[in-house]
Amino acid sequence: MAIDTPALLIDGDRLRANVAAMAAAARDGGVALRPHAKTHKMVEVAALQLEAGAAGLTVAKLGEAEVFVDGGCEDVLIAYPLIGDTKLERLVALARRARVAVALDSLEVARALAEAGAEIRVRIEVDTGQHRAGVLPGDVAALAREVAALGLHVEGVMTHEGQAYAAEDLAAATHEAAVKMREAAASLPDAVVSLGSTPTARFAAREPGVTEIRPGTYVFQDRTQIAHGAATPKDLAAFVLATVVSRPAPDRAIVDAGTKVLSSDRLNAPGAPVDFGAIDQTGWPLVRASEEHGIVAVPPGASLRIGDQVRIVPNHVCPVVNLFDEAVVVEGDREIARWRVAARGLSR
Ligand code: PLP
Repeated sequence: MAIDTPALLIDGDRLRANVAAMAAAARDGGVALRPHAKTHKMVEVAALQLEAGAAGLTVAKLGEAEVFVDGGCEDVLIAYPLIGDTKLERLVALARRARVAVALDSLEVARALAEAGAEIRVRIEVDTGQHRAGVLPGDVAALAREVAALGLHVEGVMTHEGQAYAAEDLAAATHEAAVKMREAAASLPDAVVSLGSTPTARFAAREPGVTEIRPGTYVFQDRTQIAHGAATPKDLAAFVLATVVSRPAPDRAIVDAGTKVLSSDRLNAPGAPVDFGAIDQTGWPLVRASEEHGIVAVPPGASLRIGDQVRIVPNHVCPVVNLFDEAVVVEGDREIARWRVAARGLSR
């Protein structure tokens, strides 16, 4: 199997196992699964998720939504406030082709949506502790009333409980977010109550009142998820394949993967080491990186030679995928497909 490097490598068997496991967790909890497609950005992966029973997809950007609707998805949540005439025109067009919901946390965005006449549903974004976008739970009822008065259909509430990534106790962090979401949804009859993140999804699925989960990273998993106990090394389904291009010192190997393929994201877990990823087979960390060079700290006597290929486990897989045009899909030692990262770079 000759693969030119650096390459984004997907383990097809593990990917399918991860997709099936989260689908089962959602089924067992009696909640809908609306995976966040920003992790993979590939229509082939979306198709696997939908075949496994996902109710639809979540995306961050309109451009991603367009790609997945083109690819056959009929139900998307754009979990991001949409601003500006250009986007609203595209949204109106998209809503003619698929069932579209949009998250918002302000009357300004709601007014623009109403004026554009888009056939869409609205979810009120709630801040359950991440302190990114979102209104506080106690402010949802008033905003929902005002949005509904504009003629928009408010179908529920959503949050990204990203604060869990800094928590020591994931179950407790999830419970806290779920309590806030129940409060947020109290005034809305039959509301969709949606939480989203890979490390919290299995807990969220069992929380009373939660109707939907939106994990993204679970399809591939990464070092951050392992650090949180949300994955084991056997679940890792995406790697950066790199080649050793220099061995300038006994304790140092240089690989052809720097920040332009690994991103600069650090491991997102309390007390985590500061590095750029690690070699899958040995755990040797990439202790430094420049744009095109990854510097691997190797033990003395390590057998790594110039020309050897290594699999690097990303700290955070989502931005890594966004840096590749295509993924090489393998099963065992066999390359079985190349998938286009169709929504890569679509940040508008
Ligand atoms: N929903 C929203 C709005 C998000 O921003 C994210 C992640 O950034 C997710 C869901 C999925 O989270 P994760 O990648 O932890 O699974």
